[in-house]
Amino acid sequence: MKICGMNLESLKVWKGSWHNFMATLITGVRTFDVRFPTSTMLDGSDAMNADPDYSAAYLKIYTSDPELTGDSLVFTIGRGNEVQNSAIDILAAHIVGMDTQHAFDTIGDIGRKLSADSQLRWLGTDKGVFHMGAGAVVNALWDLFAKERKLPLWKLLADLTPEQVVAAIDFRYISDALTPDEALQILRNAQHAKVANEEILRRDGVRAYTTTPGWLGYDDEKMLRLTSEAVADGFTLVKYKCGKSVEDDRRRLGKVRQLVGPDFRIAIDANQVWDVNTAIDWVNQLQEYKLEWIEEPTHPDDVVGHSTIAAGVAPTKVATGEHAANRIMFKQLLQLNAISVMQIDATRVAGVNENLANILLAAKFNIPVCPHAGGVGLCEMVQHLAMFDAIAVSGHHERRFVEYVHHLHEHFVEPTNVVAGFYKAPQLPGSGAHMLDSSIDRYLFPTGHYWTEALQQSGAQK
Ligand SMILES: [Mg+2]
Repeated sequence: MKICGMNLESLKVWKGSWHNFMATLITGVRTFDVRFPTSTMLDGSDAMNADPDYSAAYLKIYTSDPELTGDSLVFTIGRGNEVQNSAIDILAAHIVGMDTQHAFDTIGDIGRKLSADSQLRWLGTDKGVFHMGAGAVVNALWDLFAKERKLPLWKLLADLTPEQVVAAIDFRYISDALTPDEALQILRNAQHAKVANEEILRRDGVRAYTTTPGWLGYDDEKMLRLTSEAVADGFTLVKYKCGKSVEDDRRRLGKVRQLVGPDFRIAIDANQVWDVNTAIDWVNQLQEYKLEWIEEPTHPDDVVGHSTIAAGVAPTKVATGEHAANRIMFKQLLQLNAISVMQIDATRVAGVNENLANILLAAKFNIPVCPHAGGVGLCEMVQHLAMFDAIAVSGHHERRFVEYVHHLHEHFVEPTNVVAGFYKAPQLPGSGAHMLDSSIDRYLFPTGHYWTEALQQSGAQK
């Protein structure tokens, strides 16, 4: 845990300037290592990730207004959360001392600078812990901007002018697929429908799908019971983890298909376990279950492989994105017809700015954005991006489903509100990432009450 404060010189400048006296300044940042013990229940288990402890590398920005903070997190699954926080600490120090209005006006420049430190860039190049760290800083700033304007983030984004949206995006490396002028045109084309789209959003929300019944560690009885509950709750698409063995997948999908009937939508998720040819053979052995999509069939960087798989498993669609490191990966997946569903993630890439690029890339290629969520805080955060898309980019349509998993929402100031299979529009100001102080205190690793008690118990058992 580190605290970066404002230095004395910048305080003097602040006090000495009448203009800045009226401004709100960023006075400090602090990171928290928050881990939830989900591995004890096998929640989140899949073919690649056997025992995740859903965790948050959590960032809080403090300002000269004691009531105003900017909050965000990077989702991790446990070990390494401290490494992610170290990256955030290094990057977040750059914004201390900034005027929040100036930060809002220059958020595109801030995003570009966070990704442009040449020594840090060497450790990733728009991928990995520093890229996600930049995302944490950018997302915390957008949370702060929304709170300052007393708007939920979806509304703040939807009310931006096309020019403001485009100014937030780094078009470097994607202009061969999407130019700023094309992005402007997509946004301008949607302007006339924004009022009606917002009314639909406030009335209905955006359609959700659920992964809650589908974890690989659940037995068939639990999987079927949770599937029945999901159908009764109004969901129209359920996703199941797969990839342990073809026989296991056929048994589980056969039971599910029998339970839900021939027309209900079923998707599957392999979490990257297969080679390209294995993926094609495996998925084709499951075609009789009428799958909506196969998600993450192979390594997330293998764009050509995804394209080969897409051709080999049609009409089953290919979906990916929760591990797509950046907008350049999405550009290539779209250019090679490798995906039919784009699954953006709120904390994998460099924050809201880069996801605006991803959403506009998808619109250019007429591919629906079905965001990845689950984890901790991801549902709360990514719903805002889907709602922006529904108002200001691609509108409301039948091809959008936003992932939902029914756990850990109680730790947030405004938990997601999913009713009858739809995400309802958040009402409170902010981006959804603001976690309750009591949850941060209890699950702080390793000194929070939960972890000190757990360590004491495991010590007593030895
Ligand atoms: Mg997935």
